[in-house]
Amino acid sequence: MSDIQYLINQINQFRDERNWRQFHNPKDLAISISIEAAELLEDFQWISSEEALEKNKENIKEEIADVLIYSLMLCDELGLDVKEIVEEKMGKNGEKYPV
Ligand SMILES: [Mg+2]
Repeated sequence: MSDIQYLINQINQFRDERNWRQFHNPKDLAISISIEAAELLEDFQWISSEEALEKNKENIKEEIADVLIYSLMLCDELGLDVKEIVEEKMGKNGEKYPV
């Protein structure tokens, strides 16, 4: 099992033990990714990157994890292969922005 599938299984188990699947439709998962990304931005607001990392490193780690968790949940919900879609997009990025 890949590391990504292992994480998705852990997340799904956590969700199912709390009967939260009913709330995790694609729209609300997409909204949640954006909310968690905004929480990440809050850690950097009004201060330099250096200050933010000095002051908020622990919370920055948690917000990145939240973004990743919801992103993995949305991929799983939509039946998307994480490795495949990232590689596909990196290919497009390479065409758009040649070295
Ligand atoms: Mg959060």
